[in-house]
Amino acid sequence: MGKGFFISKTVVIVGGILAAGALATIIALSVVYSQEKAKNDSFQVLTTPEPPVTATGTPTGTPTGTATGTPTVTPTGTVTGTPTGTPTGTATGTATGTAAPSNKPWDKYRLPKSLVPDHYNVTLWPRLTPNETTGLYIFTGESSVEFECVEETDLILIHSNKLNYTIRENGQRAVLTSVNGEKAPSITKSWRRTETQYLVLELDGKLTKNSMYRLSTIFTGELADDLGGLYRSEYMENGVKKVVATTQMQPTDARKAFPCFDEPAMKAVFHITLLHDNGTMALSNGMEKSSTNITRDNQEVLQTVFEPTEKMSTYLLAFIVCDYDFLNNTIDDVLIRIFARKPAIAAGQGDYALNITGPILKFFEDYYNSSYPLPKSDQIALPDFNAGAMENWGLITYRETALLYDESFSSNSNKERIATIIGHELAHMWFGNLVTLRWWNDLWLNEGFASYVEYLGANNAEPLWNVTDLMVLADVHRAFGVDALATSHPLSSKEEDIQTPAQINELFDAISYSKGASVLRMLSDFLTEDVFKQGLQTYLDEFKYNNTVYRDLWDHLQRAVEKSDTVQLPNTTHNIMNTWVLQMGYPVVTINTTTGMISQQHFLLDPDSNVTTPSPYNYEWIVPIKWMKNGETQTPLWLTSKSATNESVKASDSDWVLANIDVVGYYRVNYDQGNWQRLLHTLSNNHELIPVINRAQIVDDAFNLARAKIIPTVLALDTTKYLINETEYMPWESALDNMDFFYLMFDRSEVYGPMQQYLKQQVTELFNHYTETTDNWASVPEGHMDQYNQVNALSLACRTGLPECLTVVKTKFNDWMEKDVPIHPNLRSVVYCNGIAAGDAKEWDFAWSKFKNTTIASEAEKLRSALACTTQPWLLNRYLEYTLDADMIRKQDATATIISIASNVIGQSLAWDFVRTRWSYIFNQYGGGSFSFSNLITGVTERFSTEFELVQLKQFKADNAEVGFGSGTLAIDQAIETTGSNIKWIAENKQNVLDWFNAEIKPQ
Ligand SMILES: [Zn+2]
Repeated sequence: MGKGFFISKTVVIVGGILAAGALATIIALSVVYSQEKAKNDSFQVLTTPEPPVTATGTPTGTPTGTATGTPTVTPTGTVTGTPTGTPTGTATGTATGTAAPSNKPWDKYRLPKSLVPDHYNVTLWPRLTPNETTGLYIFTGESSVEFECVEETDLILIHSNKLNYTIRENGQRAVLTSVNGEKAPSITKSWRRTETQYLVLELDGKLTKNSMYRLSTIFTGELADDLGGLYRSEYMENGVKKVVATTQMQPTDARKAFPCFDEPAMKAVFHITLLHDNGTMALSNGMEKSSTNITRDNQEVLQTVFEPTEKMSTYLLAFIVCDYDFLNNTIDDVLIRIFARKPAIAAGQGDYALNITGPILKFFEDYYNSSYPLPKSDQIALPDFNAGAMENWGLITYRETALLYDESFSSNSNKERIATIIGHELAHMWFGNLVTLRWWNDLWLNEGFASYVEYLGANNAEPLWNVTDLMVLADVHRAFGVDALATSHPLSSKEEDIQTPAQINELFDAISYSKGASVLRMLSDFLTEDVFKQGLQTYLDEFKYNNTVYRDLWDHLQRAVEKSDTVQLPNTTHNIMNTWVLQMGYPVVTINTTTGMISQQHFLLDPDSNVTTPSPYNYEWIVPIKWMKNGETQTPLWLTSKSATNESVKASDSDWVLANIDVVGYYRVNYDQGNWQRLLHTLSNNHELIPVINRAQIVDDAFNLARAKIIPTVLALDTTKYLINETEYMPWESALDNMDFFYLMFDRSEVYGPMQQYLKQQVTELFNHYTETTDNWASVPEGHMDQYNQVNALSLACRTGLPECLTVVKTKFNDWMEKDVPIHPNLRSVVYCNGIAAGDAKEWDFAWSKFKNTTIASEAEKLRSALACTTQPWLLNRYLEYTLDADMIRKQDATATIISIASNVIGQSLAWDFVRTRWSYIFNQYGGGSFSFSNLITGVTERFSTEFELVQLKQFKADNAEVGFGSGTLAIDQAIETTGSNIKWIAENKQNVLDWFNAEIKPQ
C-alpha cells in the first residue's frame, strides 16, 4: 500500500499579536503546509465489526543468538572482527500473543497446510443502486476454486467475512466436486466462524492427497461504504449522485468479496467476470476480454470477462465498476491507462500521471532487469479510498489527490506526492507482486523497499527536483522519531507473532515504511548501487510468481557481493543487516576527535525509559561510517563493536570532523564538545562548506541528542543561529520540524513569547529574500526546494506575527473571498489557514462552502486542513461533529481532520474530549477500516506534557480496556511513554530555554 493521508506534524500556533484595536488579540497561524509534505500512512484497521479479539499474552520472542566479535574500527576493506552469532529468535515488542478461542483448526488464524488453490472462477455483480426493500447496497457473486489436496484431510477451511451463502441442493453452503472424476466426500456440516473469518466445511470422508477438487459457492454481501473489501464510493457529478463499486483487499479483505484462501502465499490464477449496468465500465487486474449483453434476474446487464491473471496473491486483486473516462497510451506494447471521474479527465487532470507512468515503468524495467510482467497498467483515482494508493497488480487504485494533477489547483508538493506514489506502486509490480513475501511479518521488506525506490522512480521522471535528498526528511528523520522510543519494535517480527487482522494492520506503520526504506538505502549505499541491483535482479528472477522470506534477498545480495571485485564488507550482508533488522532502535555514534575514540550506544529519546524488549545483539550495530574532515571526504570506516579507536578521526584545534555524510547511515552522530563548537563556527562563518543534507542533520541530531540529555539543549538551539544566513530548504525544514516540538511543549507557557520573538528575528531575512525575488509574493521561485522554502518563510513569518507577512496573507485571503482572485496553489494552505484563523464564522463558512463545492480533491484537502485553524471553540466543536457524518467529511478524511483540530492549541482539548467520550462509538462504527486508530491516538496526544494529561491518558486506556484499541494498541503505550518524557523534559529545560531565547532577542 502506498502512503496515506498527510497528518503528522501540523501545528497550529496561536500567537499574540497586535490587532487594529490595539488590544492583543489571538490569531491562530499555522504551518498547515508542512502537513502536506509530511507523509504518513493510513491504513485499514480492523476487518471485523465484532469486538476484536482481545490480545493477551506476553511477547514471546526469546533471542538465542548473540553477536560476538573483536572490537575494531577499520577502513573499508579490511575485514576484522567476526561476529558469528546467528540469532534465531527475534523479540518483537508489538506482537502480543494471540489467544485463539480453542485449539480447533477453525479457531486458528492461519490456514492449515492441507489445501493449495490452483485457480478460481469468480463472477461478481455489485449493484450501484440500493435494494428497494432493504435500502441496502449489495453485491452478489458466484465463485469456484480448484485446489489440490496436499495432505489428507476431512476439513475445508476457506476465508470468508460478512458473506451470506445460498444454501445449495445438498443442503449446505457450498458444493464440493472432484476434478479428476472420482467421487468427492460429501459435506456434512457447513458453517461460518466469524471470529477467525472462515467458512468451515466438514466432510464425511478424507480428501485424497494429490487430488484436485472444486468448491463452488453462491453468496451475497453488502456493498457498504466501509472502504474495505468490495465497497462503495460516491460522488456528485452535475448534481447527480454517482456510485462506484471498488475494492481494497490488502491485507485481509479479499475474503469480504468472495470466499478464498486469503494468505499471500496461496497464489493462484483468477478468472474474473463482472456483471454491471449498461453505461458503466468494469475493470479488473486482467485485460477486458469480452463484454456482452445478457439477461440476469430479469435485468439487462453487461457481462465483462477478463483475461485470466498471472499466478498471484489474493490481496492484490481489484474489481471496479464505475462510470468513468480514461486516457491511454502505449509504451513497448504495454497499455497504460489513467481512469478518473469524467470531468477530471476532461480537465486534463490525468495527463501528468499518464506522462510520467511510461518513463517510470521503463526505469523499473531497467532497474530490475525484468520486463513489466503484464500487458496493461491501469491506474484509477477514487473519491473514497483509505490508504494513499494500492498496488493491485495491473489495476492500481489511488486517492484522487495521489493521482490527479491540475496546474491551477495543485501545489508542487501535491505534484511531488503524485510522482513518488506512482513510483512506489509501480515498484511493487515486481517487488511485492511478482515476488511476494510469504507472510505479513515480512511486510517491512515489501513496503520499505517500495518506499525507498519510489524516490528513484520519481527522480527519473523529475530529475531537476533532487527528490532523493528529500527522503532524509520524509523517511529517515521520521523513522528516527518513533524508533527512538523504548516502545518501538524491530523491523522483522516472528511469523507466529503476527496472526490476527489487527496484528497484521498494526505492521503498516512508520517502522515498516520509513525505517525499512532507510536501512535499505543504507544497504544499497554500502553495497554500491550496482551490486544492490545485481542481487535484486537475480532474486526477482529466481522467485518470480512465488513467495520468499526476507533472508532470500540477503542471500542474493551476498552472492552479488562475492562476485564483485570492488565491494568488501566487514561481515556478510546477513550479519550486518541482522543488526538493523532484528533489533529495534538505532545507535548514536559518538566521535571523540581528541582521543580518536568512536563508540555507539542505543539512542533513546528518553534516557530513563526502560527497554524491556531483549535484543539478540545487545543493542549494538555494525555501522558504516562515511565521513569528512574540513570538507574533504575521507576513507569510510566500519564500527563493528561497541567502541574502537581510530587515529584518523583525531582533529586539531582548527579541524572539524563531520560523519554520516548525506545521512546515508541510519544513525545519529555526536561529537566531543570541541568539535561541536568547530561545526557551529563553520556554520556561522561559511555554512556551505558543510553539505546541505548534513546542515539539516546537524540541526536534527543536536535537537534530538539534547532531548536525550546527551548534549545541552542550548547547544541544539545554537545550531539555529546560523539560519539567519540560510536560504536552503532542507536545513530550514529540519529546524522547523524541531521547533514544532518546542511549540507543542511551550505554546501554553511563558516561553512562548520570547521564542516567537527569536524565530521572527531569524525568519525575517528569509521572508525579505522571497519578498524581493518573487515580486512581493506574486510569483513562486523556479526550483522545487525553493518553492518549499518560500512556503516555509511565509508560514513561519506569519506564525511569529511578522506584520508584513500578515498583510500579505490577509490581502490574499480577502481578495480571494471578495473578488475571487486566485491564490497560487503553493501558497494556499498558509493563506487559507491564516485567513480563517484571523476571521470568524463568515470566513469559516465561506471556506466550508468552497470545500463542499470543489470537485478538485487536492483543493478540498487544503481547505479541510485550513478549516481546523479557526480560533473559535464553537466552530471547532461543530467541525469535530462533522467528522462522524460522512456527508460532511468523507470517512477516509475523518482521522486526519480530528488530528488537524488537535494540532490547533485551542482545538487540542476539544479533540481529546471528543475522542475519549466517543471512543467506543468510533471504534465500533469505524472499526471496518476507515479510522487509523494509531494515527488518531498519536495525533491527538501530541501536545501532552502535564501530569494531569498523563493521568487522563492512563484513565482512557483503563476505561476502554474492554472496547480495545485495535491497531492503536501500541500507539496508546507510545503516547503514555511520550507524555511522561515530555513532562520531564519541560521540567528540566523550561528555564534554560527561556533564558536562552531572552538572551538572543535583539532589542527592537
Ligand atoms: Zn506499498
